Amino acid sequence: MGDNGHQEDNVPELNHLFSFRKIADAVSPYNVARYVVFGVPFDGTSSFRRGSRLAPDTVRLAYDNLESFEFSYGVDFPSAAICDMGNLQVGEDVSEMVDTVESVIGTIMRSGKVPVMLGGEHSVTVGAVRNLPADTIMIIIDAHSDFRDEYMGNKLNHACVTRRALEILGAGRIFSIGTRSVSKEEYRSEEWKNVRFFTANEVRMKGISAAIQEIESRNPSRIYFSIDMDGIDPSEAPGVGTPEPYGLNAVDVRSLISHFAKRIIGFDIVEMTPVYDNGNTSMLAAKLIQDFIGSRETPQSLF
Ligand code: MN
Ligand code: MN
Repeated sequence: MGDNGHQEDNVPELNHLFSFRKIADAVSPYNVARYVVFGVPFDGTSSFRRGSRLAPDTVRLAYDNLESFEFSYGVDFPSAAICDMGNLQVGEDVSEMVDTVESVIGTIMRSGKVPVMLGGEHSVTVGAVRNLPADTIMIIIDAHSDFRDEYMGNKLNHACVTRRALEILGAGRIFSIGTRSVSKEEYRSEEWKNVRFFTANEVRMKGISAAIQEIESRNPSRIYFSIDMDGIDPSEAPGVGTPEPYGLNAVDVRSLISHFAKRIIGFDIVEMTPVYDNGNTSMLAAKLIQDFIGSRETPQSLF
């Protein structure tokens, strides 16, 4: 069982020569941080291509390549008060993992900080949603509806995330964008109408601004934002567990994030699988973190 070491293992006069992997701009201690990054290396219910447990550190590595200053937003990330807690220690059991995420995100949110969670598979999001105040709107980027009541005998399977979120948040609060893979049973279920699924094709025809407007019509004051990387087209994000052609453009996802950023109270990026990546997916995931924090911190929006 690996961990990040214990305080007594450290040699103060040598500390500046060693590092364990963190987001490069995460230079703040927890008590003063506004953003708290952590990884959840769990892919136990993934059905097709595993490997998302390796994603958090791969995203951190890709992040090293980014400038610490975000030119588009005029934001200097080392001043944005980011802390990186490392990776959660998780076992094989999905419900135990979800309970642990629930308690970690609860602690972060109660301290008035914004969690930035790196999956792992999409099941990790259920632990976050359990903490959301009743009036929260949820925006999900995903190729899949994730609307099965259970899959492979498990209600916490990554194919059931939107369904679980609906049970917690209630009808009319979830906007899932990029949908293009849905089973007949999901589509015909009674609950289907209780989530607004924007298909990827609808976004292509009407533009992302139509989705933004429709979400705005609900006057959201608090938003939770979950990015399943397979919502983005495989040409831009090939390293995912269950790729699906004809997806969203990354720039549209960026527009959504930057439009709503100042109201986002929690953020996650999931389902990235470095094993199948050419480097672009981890790079994009790292950039999406910067887009989120940059547009949340910027004095003026460019969008
Ligand atoms: Mn998903
Ligand atoms: Mn998906």
